[in-house]
Amino acid sequence: MERNITQQLTPATVDFDKPGKQIGVFHVPLSSHDDAWGVIPVPVAVIKNGEGPTVILEGGNHGDEYEGPITLGELIRGLDPAEVSGRLIFIPAINQPAVVAGRRVSPIDGLNLNRTFPGDPLGTTTQQIAAFVNDVLFPMGDVFVDLHSGGSSLDIIPSAVIEPGKTPEQHEANVNAALAFGAPVTVVIDNRGDPRTATASAALAGMTAIGTEMAGAGTVSIDALALCRRGVRNVLAHVGVLPGETVVAPEAPSRLYELTGKAHLIAEDDGVFEPIHKLGTEVRAGELAGRIHFLTQPGRTPIEMHYRADGIVYGRRQPGRVRPGNCCLVVASPYERKPA
Ligand SMILES: [Zn+2]
Repeated sequence: MERNITQQLTPATVDFDKPGKQIGVFHVPLSSHDDAWGVIPVPVAVIKNGEGPTVILEGGNHGDEYEGPITLGELIRGLDPAEVSGRLIFIPAINQPAVVAGRRVSPIDGLNLNRTFPGDPLGTTTQQIAAFVNDVLFPMGDVFVDLHSGGSSLDIIPSAVIEPGKTPEQHEANVNAALAFGAPVTVVIDNRGDPRTATASAALAGMTAIGTEMAGAGTVSIDALALCRRGVRNVLAHVGVLPGETVVAPEAPSRLYELTGKAHLIAEDDGVFEPIHKLGTEVRAGELAGRIHFLTQPGRTPIEMHYRADGIVYGRRQPGRVRPGNCCLVVASPYERKPA
């Protein structure tokens, strides 16, 4: 397909090549009953000055994850272009309909933006948003930072996320950029090999690609927000867009983990999930992880669930109520960094 149709259908009000600071939108067409020639205005900002890499910073990929969008808004308002060497492109509320709704997925087409890449310029609203990021922004970018949190259904240890690189060089760059974030925990996450995420698409486009998981539970975490604020600045310093090597040094070196094929514990029955351990607890495969209780059948013995991997409890389902297929727990296993 002719992908420059993306530019035609989703035009931006900012000039990405113009020095200085611009705050605008790109338009996603939405022809509805009460607005035949209407559009969805999706915020985009550019800060450009001098020579240096282009960093694309995304928040609001899921609409119920708030630390990233707050951090990016602060940078958009607070950064003086004179501080920048290169170009910053901000998309702080990229799935605008989901952000407005405070929901993970779009209320318009029900799609999860982070399972929609590389998008389709002639597709639904969410597919068109993904196509704008993939077709219009990614060709300009050197580094992509996608700021997530756990969202309404999960609470996750605030952490930087490494997108697996497509080449050893890219992988090394992704590891270094994620470690530069300075989170206590850094995790390699391949989303079960799913290529439809924003960071996987960015890696495919040749960019250095990292992300975050900042707490969650559909709230704003004080600690995660503080980490997000300094981590993003640290990454921008690491790639040379902001001066210095690290803006705020972490208290201790980050511990490296990965999510293996045995990380996720999935509910197999309908009930209420009782976790055994708090986030960050070291656990072993085979150890009791939790129970599913049957509240209306008090005579029925709860089902026991056991960890499938060694590591730490990295994420936990927030609502107590579970149905078959719900992800109850996530274990992150120690990750050995391969020599460069
Ligand atoms: Zn997310």
